[in-house]
Amino acid sequence: MEPFTLYDRMNRKERKGMAVRYSVIVPVYNEEEVIHSSFKRLKQVMDQTCETYELIFVNDGSVDQTLAILKNYGDQDATVKIIDFARNFGHQIAITAGMDMAKGDAVIVIDADLQDPPELIHTMIKKWKQGYEVVYAKRTKRKGESLFKRYTASLFYRTLRTLTEVDIPLDTGDFRLIDRKVCEQMKQLHERNRFVRGLVSWVGFRQTSVEYERDERLLGESKYPLKKMLKLSLDGITSFSYKPLKLATYAGVFLSLAGFIYMLAVIYLKLFTSQTVVGWSSVIVIQLVFSGFVLLILGVMGEYIGRIYDESKNRPLYVIRESYGIKENKEHAKI
Ligand code: UDP
Ligand code: MG
Repeated sequence: MEPFTLYDRMNRKERKGMAVRYSVIVPVYNEEEVIHSSFKRLKQVMDQTCETYELIFVNDGSVDQTLAILKNYGDQDATVKIIDFARNFGHQIAITAGMDMAKGDAVIVIDADLQDPPELIHTMIKKWKQGYEVVYAKRTKRKGESLFKRYTASLFYRTLRTLTEVDIPLDTGDFRLIDRKVCEQMKQLHERNRFVRGLVSWVGFRQTSVEYERDERLLGESKYPLKKMLKLSLDGITSFSYKPLKLATYAGVFLSLAGFIYMLAVIYLKLFTSQTVVGWSSVIVIQLVFSGFVLLILGVMGEYIGRIYDESKNRPLYVIRESYGIKENKEHAKI
């Protein structure tokens, strides 16, 4: 592979004193099919900026050739930096590790599968130079994804919005540019079950969006099966709202009121009429509804308690097997 620019050809020592303008974070998990194309396209876009940059690939426990391919790039290209996780810690944690290591004045997060077009980075940079500190990419269309995924994603973003006071934009993933100031703030947020796009909204700053049509994944399969999607959405909701916990209060008030009225009716029938209370089936139905509801509420509480437990263990967010071309910044590890 040919080095592309003068900046690439400089060795690490020569580049050391130079400030990095842009850090691009790419989380990768078993992306051997697509990594060639996405590296090439990303590189092309970043070269066009004519400014300094680093490409931080976070290898999230891939079991295929992803790491070997990345190391090969790293050997020939000083802009490539690699963080190799000791196992799969998940997409959100991979992004977090990238932010911890990033040195750039602006930090860009992008998926490896080319669903997020790298060319949009130019527009993001333009907005950043106009003074916005967060530029997020909003999906106007999602191509090549199943109806189920599109529908559930849309439902999730809308539910989350009604549940929380934090202004989390609709239909927006993690593809975004954030200013150094925002990145520094993000590093202060140590929660374990992370919903990064929500945290970026939470910190605030001047935010704006650019719209784009989300392409199909170029090659390979989605690394987000239903289980991971569910976990992410529960993290989003539990991190930014405790309204689900209030469900028990509202339902409790409503159901006990209804129960009380029903009891009065039963007493009235017993005392003043000859009608007996009919049927055990109604009792069973009520019993089922109530116990179902109690279990549901217990489950909701469990989601929160589990996360409190995670926090209390105070483990580091991630474990790095090795990093290449990067000086480790143990922001999260030292807490
Ligand atoms: N990814 C990751 N760890 C995971 C799952 C995914 O680092 O456990 C990366 C993946 O390699 C990709 C990005 O996160 O760069 C988004 O994943 P994917 O495209 O599979 O998700 P989808 O677009 O289908 O929601
Ligand atoms: Mg994808």
